[in-house]
Amino acid sequence: MANLNRIPQRYYSQLVLDDFSYEDQKKLCESEVTIIGCGGLGTPLAVYLVASGVGKINLIDFDVVEERNLHRQVFYKESDIGRKKVEALKDFLTNLDREVKVNIYPEKSSEIDFKKINSNLFFDCTDNLKTSFELNEEMVNLNKPICFASASEFNGQIIIFKNLKKEHCCYSCLFKESGDLETNHCVSLGVLGPAVAVIASMQSLIGMRFICGKFEETETLIRVDSSKFEIKKNKVFPDKSCRLNRL
Ligand SMILES: [Zn+2]
Repeated sequence: MANLNRIPQRYYSQLVLDDFSYEDQKKLCESEVTIIGCGGLGTPLAVYLVASGVGKINLIDFDVVEERNLHRQVFYKESDIGRKKVEALKDFLTNLDREVKVNIYPEKSSEIDFKKINSNLFFDCTDNLKTSFELNEEMVNLNKPICFASASEFNGQIIIFKNLKKEHCCYSCLFKESGDLETNHCVSLGVLGPAVAVIASMQSLIGMRFICGKFEETETLIRVDSSKFEIKKNKVFPDKSCRLNRL
């Protein structure tokens, strides 16, 4: 059970907002999220969500912290190099909030039984398309909502699919499963740390609004070009020939 007694004091600056109520804060405190991939997107996302009050968080990543991660995965320290990312991130989060519940899975997402994880929202913060397509299939089949995000060079994109039982629109309706799906674009194309942070920060804002039932723009691709400071939005429509569409 979330400790609601601390809400007025701890989250004062959120509660004074016109568009953010005590009920919204309560929803955040009682919510559970799952982050797949604890790199440049997943780490700041986890930190912002927990700092904002999210009560329970599941972290999935099999990787260890490397020196070349530190320019963008800014919540890891030099002393974390060689540690499992999920363990280092759990330490950071429990220092930030001693009451947050953090479950860690130092495994590949393909080894996780998502049926057993109940979250208000799942976040794909991985860095290759193959995993994103696998997660998409998993979430479509389980009717669980997922927020995809990616960043490379100066660009990034974010989209939530609700995956409701009675309507189909998914990541495979938007992107075709062809080409080299295992490429890590952060490594092959490069990326600036603050450009990743912009996407992670927007992903946490969108996620908070979704959890509070206030995010209308699901199934909408939000593209950010941080070199021109431009944001574009495009509604995504279902693809009748999508292989995951069983309606
Ligand atoms: Zn589809």
